[in-house]
Amino acid sequence: DPVLLWLRRDLRLSDQRALVAAAHEGPVVPVYVLDDDTAQHRKMGAASRWWLHHSLKSLDASLREKGSRLILRRGRCEEELAQVAEAMGATRVHCIRHYEPWWRNAERAVAKVLDLCCHDGNYLRPPGMVTTQSGDPYKIYTPFWRALKEVMPPDEPLERPHRIDAPDQWPESDDLNEWKLLPTSPNWAKGFSDWEPGESGARKRIDAFLNAAAEYDGQRDLPGVEGTSRLSPHLHFGEVSPGYVWHRTADAGGSVDVFLGELGWRDYAQNVILQFPKYASENARERFDDFNWRDFRSSTVRDEFDAWKAGRTGYPIVDAGMRQLWATGWMHNRVRMIAASFLIKHLLIDWREGEKWFWDTLVDADYASNATNWQWVSGTGIDSNMFGRIMAPLKQSEKFGAADYIRLWVPELADLSDDAIHDPEAAGCRPDDYPEKLIGHKPARERALAANSKIR
Ligand code: FAD
Repeated sequence: DPVLLWLRRDLRLSDQRALVAAAHEGPVVPVYVLDDDTAQHRKMGAASRWWLHHSLKSLDASLREKGSRLILRRGRCEEELAQVAEAMGATRVHCIRHYEPWWRNAERAVAKVLDLCCHDGNYLRPPGMVTTQSGDPYKIYTPFWRALKEVMPPDEPLERPHRIDAPDQWPESDDLNEWKLLPTSPNWAKGFSDWEPGESGARKRIDAFLNAAAEYDGQRDLPGVEGTSRLSPHLHFGEVSPGYVWHRTADAGGSVDVFLGELGWRDYAQNVILQFPKYASENARERFDDFNWRDFRSSTVRDEFDAWKAGRTGYPIVDAGMRQLWATGWMHNRVRMIAASFLIKHLLIDWREGEKWFWDTLVDADYASNATNWQWVSGTGIDSNMFGRIMAPLKQSEKFGAADYIRLWVPELADLSDDAIHDPEAAGCRPDDYPEKLIGHKPARERALAANSKIR
């Protein structure tokens, strides 16, 4: 009998345990279900939809090379899969396990109507597996990573199957173009052209990164340098497995261990949402529920939020990052921290608003990684970071040599000297078309610390 392969954020043929298992059992029917119907599902943001469109296209092409194809359905996962199964005379479904709360719900719903077999393979180790001596989940990254390293390296990656048998006839499939995943405004996503979604694009990124991997620690914090792998959207959509990335990079020498530690952060974030499924909407530290965020009903606050989104805060490093995000769907990690901290602490806007904006605009938008990092920056999370640690954006900009990065993304400032560009207002050379600071660093810092001390 044919078996179903239920694909979600695992859009690859190599090191795909669910595919290998399915191919072993009989003809395979690969299915992707876009579920915008189930209320509990967090709808993918616009940038993710752009990526998904291209990734599905690429996956379908790879499957066709093997005589197979991708079946597309839209609706509730359990209903669509049950329909396909019935049409094919199938009862069994293989999938890779996912940990977003809505995916766990969907797995339960599918398992009620079909024989569902879940596999691991999108993390270095299955989330929930690495625990403290007493069996509790870790709350803090460093001990988590120390324990995870004890059970490394990850399993050897699996080859893509030589054969994927096709069923005698295919079930009905939607036309990808009718899903309208691509943006309707023509200008947006123009700057996404550097990305190549799909498995072969992911491989190219790894190959390119191998040269830089040994220098990772010295380069990764410099926004103007391509010192990081840019694998995040590929990893998010599962176009490559972290195990494969590990095995390809681990011998690069130099500071590659620091890079592997970042892959560990990705695993850590999944462990966090497994413990706190509502991590994107609820403060882990409850005392922050009483925090006096500035009121979104005020038009001043909304205007300042819009200025942050548009990259017009008057802080060049923040503005460069926010414009890079809008233009390319990605932002350098150091600048993500600076821009997030600015929203939360300088503008005193609830971190959840920023989380949502990133969710909509990042091509690597990931429920676990996004929420974990936002709560980490805001100091509301389960880790030990404190709200009172307030980043100074202008100092950060100087320290990490962001001048050329700013010139690239904030062209109004392109003619300023390296000394003046981080803080044109203070240097007395702010061009007319570049905004004044929304608030000075010192008053912002005092306002944030005062708000924080009120809830102690
Ligand atoms: P590299 O430095 O090459 O790292 C390799 C891989 O490790 C990344 O591809 C990513 O999968 C993982 N990784 C690295 N840093 C982190 C981290 N801090 N947390 C979790 N995983 C990490 N990352 C996302 O993948 N999705 C998100 O939605 C996301 N939101 C973020 C929001 C904020 C406010 C901040 C500060 C960080 C966020 N990050 C997110 C983490 C990090 O910024 C990106 O993973 C990284 O910039 C991706 O670039 P890269 O692939 O070149 O990373």
